[in-house]
Amino acid sequence: MTARATTAELIRAKRDGAALSEEDIGRLVAGIVDGSVSEGQTAAFAMAVYFRGMSRAECAWLTGAMTRSGTVLAWPDLGGPILDKHSTGGVGDKVSLILAPVVAAAGGFVPMISGRGLGHTGGTLDKLGSIPGYDTTPDVRRFQSAVRAAGCAIVGQTADLAPADRRLYSIRDVTATVESIPLITASILSKKLAAGLDALVMDIKVGSGAFAPSLETARALGESLLAIAGDAGLRTTALLTDMNQVLGHHVGNALEVLEAIEFLTGARREARLHAVTSALASDLLVLGGLARDDGEGVAAVDKTLASGAAAERFAKMVKVLGGPANLVEHPGRHLVRAPVDLAVAPETSGVITRIDARAVGLVVAALGGGRQAIEDAMDPAVGLADVRGIGERVGRDRPIAVVHARSRGAAEAAAAALRRAVSVGNEPLSPAPATPVLHRMGSPSAT
Ligand code: URA
Repeated sequence: MTARATTAELIRAKRDGAALSEEDIGRLVAGIVDGSVSEGQTAAFAMAVYFRGMSRAECAWLTGAMTRSGTVLAWPDLGGPILDKHSTGGVGDKVSLILAPVVAAAGGFVPMISGRGLGHTGGTLDKLGSIPGYDTTPDVRRFQSAVRAAGCAIVGQTADLAPADRRLYSIRDVTATVESIPLITASILSKKLAAGLDALVMDIKVGSGAFAPSLETARALGESLLAIAGDAGLRTTALLTDMNQVLGHHVGNALEVLEAIEFLTGARREARLHAVTSALASDLLVLGGLARDDGEGVAAVDKTLASGAAAERFAKMVKVLGGPANLVEHPGRHLVRAPVDLAVAPETSGVITRIDARAVGLVVAALGGGRQAIEDAMDPAVGLADVRGIGERVGRDRPIAVVHARSRGAAEAAAAALRRAVSVGNEPLSPAPATPVLHRMGSPSAT
């Protein structure tokens, strides 16, 4: 198939449901990067894809062109597989902070490129930004030497990694075209392929706090990601995990770093957070050839936690990226704490029957711990601590959560919004699933 003569012709073809050629897509991506394709044309293209979709071949070409739009990292001579996890985003999701050092301690290398939070979900980069001195945007050399030294480094997207995605995503974000499965697939995988991975595990969240409210949407995204990753030679599995309630105890940037440290050191481990982290990390170890099967993978994960090796890797990552050397021993000395605490008792005692997890995330955003636009500032100190889960008893003596706020007024507004987000009754309408890992897609066994 020949390439369309102009960008307008290409957009028209997609608008009318015709297939694009590899050359069409290559030229479009080059134009998005060098600016010759305008913002309006990029938005029109995204909207045409939103309505018309893409074939598997078109999506693979888009992913490939976006991957090659900037630097593609290589990791020669590390002596272990290059592994990473990506989550579609949830409330209280601090899995990356735990999983990266766990996998590093088990023999993998994790160059994790993370994003900032937007709307109701927090971003791993914002959480790490609450650690004084931690460099979330190192140059490629510092990033690579941190991965070599600590086995893992979690940083932000550099300007030269998949620059086509950077521009396309920023335009999708303001034109209501984020929720397109082929565009999400190409966006996520181009960044992962540019990071030079051997294997990837996807955490696709399902439920009230997730991009995918239903299992059906989550499955469709999982199938698309597995197909395109497979075409690109990237071994991948996808886990669909429950996001109908907060993952772990705390929501908020510094609070989540504290929880991750407590998890790594064994001071406190919330069961659902443990189950999700362990399943994802185990899949990575099997995909990377560091464990033979899930049983061995889970045992290896537990060993890195019990021995303190994962906590050591976390401490080392923080230190080599400029954070305090004794953060793990003394988190309270370094992590900011909001001046006002307010325990939120429910209006009537009972059991939590339902949680609007998205609304819980928005409570934290309204406290200043999230952002509506990517350039907004955010407050690392605020959030919700000890948020109770579905099926847990709450009453005067057992608050739903403790608000951490800058002022009494902000804390009271957050408490009122939290009460609206959490239903209390006699028993849960639908009990929380026995395990938050709802479904596994793809086989982790190395091929
Ligand atoms: N996350 C990404 O990186 N890209 C998308 O398109 C959506 C979520």
